[in-house]
Amino acid sequence: MANQDDIFKNIISHSKEYGFIFQSSEIYDGLSAVYDYGQMGVELKKNLRDYWWKAMVQMHENIVGIDASIFMHPTTWKASGHVDAFNDPLIDNKDSKKRYRADVLIEEHVAKIEGKIQKEIDKAKERFGESFNEETFCSTNARVLENQAKADAILSRFKTALENNDLADVRQIIIDCEIVCPISGSKNWTEVRQFNLMFSTSMGAVTEDSNIIYLRPETAQGIFVNFLNVQKSGRMKIPFGIAQTGKAFRNEIVARQFIFRMREFEQMEMQFFVRPGTEMEWYNYWKDARIKWHKSLGMGNENYRFHDHLKLAHYANAACDIEFNFPFGFKELEGIHSRTDFDLKAHEQFSGKKLQYFDPEINQNYVPYVVETSVGLDRLFLSVLSKAYTEEKLEDGTTRIALNIPAFLAPIKVAILPLLKKDGLPEKAREIMDLLKFDHACTFDEKDTIGKRYRRQDAIGTPFCITIDHQTLEDNTVTIRHRDTMKQERVAIEQLQQIVEEKVSLKKALKSLN
Ligand code: ATP
Repeated sequence: MANQDDIFKNIISHSKEYGFIFQSSEIYDGLSAVYDYGQMGVELKKNLRDYWWKAMVQMHENIVGIDASIFMHPTTWKASGHVDAFNDPLIDNKDSKKRYRADVLIEEHVAKIEGKIQKEIDKAKERFGESFNEETFCSTNARVLENQAKADAILSRFKTALENNDLADVRQIIIDCEIVCPISGSKNWTEVRQFNLMFSTSMGAVTEDSNIIYLRPETAQGIFVNFLNVQKSGRMKIPFGIAQTGKAFRNEIVARQFIFRMREFEQMEMQFFVRPGTEMEWYNYWKDARIKWHKSLGMGNENYRFHDHLKLAHYANAACDIEFNFPFGFKELEGIHSRTDFDLKAHEQFSGKKLQYFDPEINQNYVPYVVETSVGLDRLFLSVLSKAYTEEKLEDGTTRIALNIPAFLAPIKVAILPLLKKDGLPEKAREIMDLLKFDHACTFDEKDTIGKRYRRQDAIGTPFCITIDHQTLEDNTVTIRHRDTMKQERVAIEQLQQIVEEKVSLKKALKSLN
């Protein structure tokens, strides 16, 4: 069995080989933590974005979308707190000269302790079988209790240090936990410093400080500054939401793990405006709705979990992440935040314009509270890719690599394969392509043996292959081959549209969300 590291490496090289993801500017040796989506990647990414958009906007009468610009007035980022507080605590190892996020070093150390607890639980589960009670075991087993106490103590000390902005103690925690640099293996650490993550550039011909503008580090602020425009022009009544997808930029210090942490990435965010006092109800509503949406992708329910935030951001009164079991462990996929009235109030204050809503039901003006859902499209892509990728040993001893992407997300839905390049088979195949291409992404392939062509389609996740042979010319039937089962069946050409449509339609997935 290959280990997770090897599988992750295979996924990365598979992405490149089949046109999903390329390193940016590769011919110049690449640009760190920046990636390009290739011909297959762009389709999968678009399908994921469409599914999110439809689930959020089309399925909710009270949610509408916008597309705000990446550049915004620089005061936006003063008001939002990003100029003063969008920092990561960083620490350098003096021997390897490598830079790390101090919070990540500590969190990974705690995750290791939690891993030990899980091992004890798994061992006991095996030993006790049916009669095993996890709760009782965790509250009585000495080793579990000891490790749990250790993890809790570190986290609580870390939380206090962050709240007090006590960077010296953050460093001391790293030293006390005896955390070593994974490269040099040494504990020779520098001080912890804060580092602002926003990229800046200048607008216009003159480079002066006053012309500095930022590349947005999140899409949310484009929604806040347009709150009244949308509310008034759309005659929206609270509660209502505004959704947006688009690029965001962060000068990440430690940009590793492929498309998990990039410097340029895409977010899909929705800000839901609610009456003050009802935010916790909506926060819970969106937690449920969003995890249900992720699970509907069919990547295994056990691979998702919630993680409550230890330290709340300056704007939040409740926050959690939906974590996914990536090849490198459970990590944040989506954030759900109850942002209070922080952003709208700050924009009121900095702009001098009122950003209030008159609620006819209670006859009152107020600044709405906001519950946000924010998912990274690239991380979502990685979550799907990493679980869909399978290496399967076949009976004949060969290995089949398939991407078991849900059919409705697959980059190409149908491959049309004339058995031979002659005898009128390609022409007949083109007729079938012309029948299906208006509704579905199709590809035409007449090179190599049919077996090789099937494998190529498996590798990009195409759910259906349709083979046209001599019999097709006689009785208008074709062989349709299913990716997941590799089963082949003979069907009439006139049935094709229905067979394909049933499997690739978004409808079933959207209906499952209700
Ligand atoms: P992290 O703790 O991993 O840095 P974050 O808490 O800063 O993430 P948010 O500000 O909540 O992230 O952003 C919302 C979502 O945007 C995240 O859940 C993630 O999916 C995505 N995201 C954030 N930063 C990046 C990045 N550098 N590359 C890719 N996706 C990102």
